[in-house]
Amino acid sequence: MPYFVDVILPLPLDKRFTYEVSEEEATFLYPGMRVAVPFGKSKIYTGIAANIHQRPPEVYEAKPIHQILDKEALITNNQLKFWQWISTYYMCAEGDVLRAALPGAFLLESEGVIQLKNKEHLSETELNDDEFLLVEALQGQSSLKIQEVMKLLDKKTVLPIINRLIEKEVLVLNQEIYEQYKPKKTRFVKLSENYRDEASMHELLDSLSRAPSQRDIILTYFSLTAKSNKPLKLKNLLKESKASPGTLKALIDKGILEEFYQEIDRVSFSGETTSKEIVFSKFQQKAFSEIKEHFAGNKVGLLHGITSSGKTEIYIQLIKEVLAAGKQALYLLPEIALTTQLIHRLQHYFGDKVLIYHSKYSVNERVEVYRKILYNPGSGQVIIGARSSIFLPFTNLGLVVVDEEHESSFKQYDPAPRYHARDAAVVLGSYFKANILLGSATPSLESYSNAQHHKYGLVELNRRFGDVLVPEIEIVDIKTKHKKKRMTGHFSDRLLEEIKRTLKEDEQVILFQNRRGFSPILECNTCGHSPQCPNCDVSLTYHANNNQLRCHYCGYHIAMQQKCMACHSTDISTKGFGTEQIETELKALFPDHKIARMDQDTTRGKYAFDKIIGAFEQQEIDILVGTQMVTKGLDFRHVNLVGIMNADNLLNFPDFRAHERSFQLMLQVAGRAGRTKKRGKVLIQSYNPNHQIIQQVSTGDYAAMYKEQLEERYNYKYPPYYRIIRFTLKSRDYSTNNTAADWLAKSLTNVFGEYVLGPEYPPVARIRNEYYKNILLKIPQQQSLEKTKEVANKILLSFKSIGAFRSIRVVVNVDPV
Ligand code: ADP
Ligand code: ZN
Ligand code: ZN
Repeated sequence: MPYFVDVILPLPLDKRFTYEVSEEEATFLYPGMRVAVPFGKSKIYTGIAANIHQRPPEVYEAKPIHQILDKEALITNNQLKFWQWISTYYMCAEGDVLRAALPGAFLLESEGVIQLKNKEHLSETELNDDEFLLVEALQGQSSLKIQEVMKLLDKKTVLPIINRLIEKEVLVLNQEIYEQYKPKKTRFVKLSENYRDEASMHELLDSLSRAPSQRDIILTYFSLTAKSNKPLKLKNLLKESKASPGTLKALIDKGILEEFYQEIDRVSFSGETTSKEIVFSKFQQKAFSEIKEHFAGNKVGLLHGITSSGKTEIYIQLIKEVLAAGKQALYLLPEIALTTQLIHRLQHYFGDKVLIYHSKYSVNERVEVYRKILYNPGSGQVIIGARSSIFLPFTNLGLVVVDEEHESSFKQYDPAPRYHARDAAVVLGSYFKANILLGSATPSLESYSNAQHHKYGLVELNRRFGDVLVPEIEIVDIKTKHKKKRMTGHFSDRLLEEIKRTLKEDEQVILFQNRRGFSPILECNTCGHSPQCPNCDVSLTYHANNNQLRCHYCGYHIAMQQKCMACHSTDISTKGFGTEQIETELKALFPDHKIARMDQDTTRGKYAFDKIIGAFEQQEIDILVGTQMVTKGLDFRHVNLVGIMNADNLLNFPDFRAHERSFQLMLQVAGRAGRTKKRGKVLIQSYNPNHQIIQQVSTGDYAAMYKEQLEERYNYKYPPYYRIIRFTLKSRDYSTNNTAADWLAKSLTNVFGEYVLGPEYPPVARIRNEYYKNILLKIPQQQSLEKTKEVANKILLSFKSIGAFRSIRVVVNVDPV
């Protein structure tokens, strides 16, 4: 009887593929090992062996696998189970999940491109003949396709060779572009080996008796290195010894001191941890005990704690206990809240038990974390990561913390799998019977309603730590201010007064504007035309720094126009405003103060974000203007004033969650003010000062917001009362897209009746020259989710079989946010 293996391929296929293996291979092979398999005419992919059996496939003849790539499983059984859950729940291919779940370096394929990683490293690495040939070829050219490697070595089975070289860190696969950013290198000095022992040290000092300034440097070196074991920066030695660079150079030339360069990795761990016990306030203590009670009852905990109430310290205490039991803790955060600040805070307690998994990390760094988790789970580990860290190979998970659980960025938008990391983490945790804690100052309606219905255990913490008061919130009616001519640009007189007062007291200001760019839209005052993106149905946005009009959807840009493109009138003006314009106005208003901006445009490199945060922390910046990025989890000691430039564009966003989101954003950004004894101040500028959400923000009244929004959701049939699946049809052909959308909507309506909405054009109905149309399926609580999805999948299958619709892509989004 032949043996077969079902393989998950990293492709959007709706099934696993079955391959043939020899009896010998079958005994060696375990589920979760990687196998190289042929697919299609000439391609080779890395797939994952899922199960080994003796049932031949019915509709095709199984091809033999190419090669087994691992000696032991790289994917755990729980991961395989989890992938299957994600693929079923979020209605996507298992192959899509595979791609999202594994660092790219694990997935060699014949289309891949390899490069040499580290030339200096090579001499120490032992290479066999094939490896040597390959490395030699790569020294001549910068990269090779894997297919070219097959030709070069005249072999078909090259993946194992490449794999080995990647493991030896000789090669890298599909190197990402942002890797090319080189972190800053710093100069360090150390004493030469020759003078390290007692006797030669004395000899050295004696020999320098006639060069007192050189002798001083050496003495300073001893005193500085005695205090700490950290490498000594050349700059610090100069400063402390008050010597001239020439004197220092003389010591280096004599070979007494040695100079070396080292990268300053901002997240690497410096070696010092604290054994300091956390002493909880009585409110924290109470919350902590309540959380433990819910855990004891096997309930997911929801910690609703206002900003600065000390939630993080509670997480730390919970993590401590899990690590003490030798288990793993996963600390999930939205990407932009995953800051150096927070990482340092955790490293302070947990040292090198902290592992970080982040999309800004290179493929190789991610591979390293993956392996550490797979091979050393017993040592106790805390993994801090953004949403994709739920895919790591946990074996021993004791705790999952989802911080800022209300954040919509936990949901992956594109590509599939369109999973919600918070919801998936709850499922993942259940495989391990791990404790799960969701935390937020402004929980999502979904989670809070789960708590109200006793599905989750609710814990409230509504005092700031250390008797710090919540900031005072003042609403400024800018409609009236405009009428009374009390506005300077986009600043009301009140906001300017408060900024001046704050700066005078040597404190810092954060200004929040939820739009980047200078002023979103250019408009002709004669004919009303505003320049549009040729590829998308949106107006172009003006960016002052490079004097361009840009599309935020596709990146299209043209030079700023002096005349209307339609009627050639020169009477054009800008409407709306973004962060860049606020920055420009501020520079004119406060020329003597340092102003910085934080948004997508200013934080592109790996370290750009950290640089701004660092400078702000060090008070090198007085006023920080930013988008959402300034609202997340940052803890600054000297921010006393927060200004929300315009609350209205948040509230008017066309989405059923817009009000909930505005409330969350405004309270989060308000929470950045006054985190020390001195009470902070928040100013909200708005044309609708009486809007219920603004009123609720001003009193921090979550309960009122929750009640009111929940009623709306009930009336309009939205989550948490109804679940939603959104189907988006995309095509370059406008009319076929419409026809197809009508067909799909009709087929769904036949089964689900009034619960199907659309087809409708989304607010931006064309992006990169593709037309979009949406259909919404609402699922009432009593209706089975599984059955609904089964039926929907059947309809989608028939849809795909219609030849005329072949060019249409259907994107399915379960629980869209
Ligand atoms: P949150 O996460 O709720 O916004 P944090 O955990 O950041 O709040 O706490 C706010 C501030 O109070 C931080 O600077 C933190 O170090 C401090 N803090 C919180 N709890 C304690 C504690 N038990 N002992 C000492 N400092 C604490
Ligand atoms: Zn015009
Ligand atoms: Zn565009």
